[in-house]
Amino acid sequence: MSAYDINNIFAKILRGEIPSHRVYEDDATIAFMDVMPQAEGHMLVVPKAPSRNLLDADTASLPALITAVQKIAVAAKDAFDADGVTIMQFNEAPAGQSVFHLHFHVIPRRDGVPLKP
Ligand code: C5P
Repeated sequence: MSAYDINNIFAKILRGEIPSHRVYEDDATIAFMDVMPQAEGHMLVVPKAPSRNLLDADTASLPALITAVQKIAVAAKDAFDADGVTIMQFNEAPAGQSVFHLHFHVIPRRDGVPLKP
């Protein structure tokens, strides 16, 4: 696996070098709106600690991260009056990862509305 790139786009968002629509922050995590939403309310949950994806993440950091994912999923379902929530996470380019800083997609879903490609 390649090394973590400190200049990936989410690292720049975390440092405030690139703007984002931030909707959540705690000691270890931020969440912001995806710029190319696959459905209304599509958010990204991003740990502040540097890891390329889930495969190299520090195990000790994961309980706090998944707790934040759950908190944001519950809030997103409520805020967007959704019928469900899709949570997606990709590891390396062949698996669909395009930004190489660990992140979870949290996507509110409505009955009968497919994800945009
Ligand atoms: O495929 P991957 O899980 O790496 O998805 C990266 C996501 O980051 C995409 O959904 C893309 O729209 C989003 N993104 C963003 N803001 C940026 C760059 C990418 O929300 N500045």
